Amino acid sequence: MTNVDVNTRVERVEKLPPVSNQIQEKIDAFGHEDNAFAIGNLGDIIRKHRIWKECFPRIEPFYAVKCNDVDPVIRILADMGLSFDCASKIEIQKILDLGVDPSRIIYANTFKQSSFLKYAAEKGVSLMTFDCEDELEKIKKVYPEAKLVLRICPQSNYKVKFHLGRKFGCHPLRTSELFQVARRLQLNVIGVSFHVGSGCLETGAFAEAIEQSREVFDIGLAMGFNMHLLDIGGGFPGKKIQNVETNITFKEIGRVANKSLDKYFPGNNVRIIAEPGRYYVASAFTIAVNIITKKIVMDEEIVQPNSTECGDDPTTENKPVRMYVINDGIYGCFFECFIDPRCYVPSHFKSIDKELYNSTIWGPTCDALDLIIDNVKLPDLSTGDWIYFKDMGAYSFPTISTFNNMPRVNEFYTCERQLW
Ligand code: PLP
Repeated sequence: MTNVDVNTRVERVEKLPPVSNQIQEKIDAFGHEDNAFAIGNLGDIIRKHRIWKECFPRIEPFYAVKCNDVDPVIRILADMGLSFDCASKIEIQKILDLGVDPSRIIYANTFKQSSFLKYAAEKGVSLMTFDCEDELEKIKKVYPEAKLVLRICPQSNYKVKFHLGRKFGCHPLRTSELFQVARRLQLNVIGVSFHVGSGCLETGAFAEAIEQSREVFDIGLAMGFNMHLLDIGGGFPGKKIQNVETNITFKEIGRVANKSLDKYFPGNNVRIIAEPGRYYVASAFTIAVNIITKKIVMDEEIVQPNSTECGDDPTTENKPVRMYVINDGIYGCFFECFIDPRCYVPSHFKSIDKELYNSTIWGPTCDALDLIIDNVKLPDLSTGDWIYFKDMGAYSFPTISTFNNMPRVNEFYTCERQLW
């Protein structure tokens, strides 16, 4: 068991007020405290799990710990019976410390440090992915009894926010070679996995990857392996706020993926698992930040990227731009800027009829890369004002760095009593 008592960290309420009220209450209670803070709604995660079970009755979720590993989150997921996708020794350790059985873990990093693999062997975490010969040789030496899942890199042109295929997965055409190596080494390959890419934008990506997995599955069966597991990875959307880029819903993916599973993996002979990350946690967290400095500059004074001159872009109008520096940034919870610069939508406490101005939002470090949002329309805000961002639960906490030694956001947890 962890030494964090999740019960004492979670405020249980009859009915949750809107998140803006929750934030305002905290600010009022703080007095002069101005640290950025996060509110995690664990009830949202509980609801997500119910929706998962309705949409995917056949698919066991192995939550991707890398997405958000804060104790209350992994604890509540473990208590609801989820299994886990871990990427390292420490992640495995964290999950085992919750009392989760090793059979509920997949070590789903295709690149495993030898000592981590040894740890997995000692703890009996036997299910793991691989995608190259070198990894098979290592597994043969360290953990020959492991149950291996071949990760493929599905070939498709479907849009996703963040492709993983350049680094991970074996081209479907090269899978026979890898099966042969596994056979020569007398290893135990039991299935196929894929990840369509994080933030999948087209449901067809799942259909195509499931079809390609079937072909690879059949190659494995023909080569004598006892293939009985398909892992459809992650990539499911998890935000409440939708924009043009993320307008596919989880339910639509469910409909398409289930249809393909029924077609290519009918019956119950094959165990189907998935590794959802952002689906479970994205919408559960809101982060409130304080404006530490406001600076007004003219468009033409701004140094453009790739230039040492100010305002050398003839297309810029010479208008004032309000720069707001807030007390969390890309080295804190706003790391996803690197993947999708338009993914953050700021909310404020000003009335909606106020005039809007061109604004930019910057993080607090001494790094000019620490830009969260370029070109956003906001009312006139002041130093000391609070703004907040919804849908901040995915890839925010685990990627926090110690750069500039800025403080980590404070975390508060809440849940409706009836869900708890
Ligand atoms: N599984 C693996 C192996 C991953 O690398 C990732 C994310 O990078 C996930 C699952 C979770 O993906 P998502 O958060 O898009 O569901």
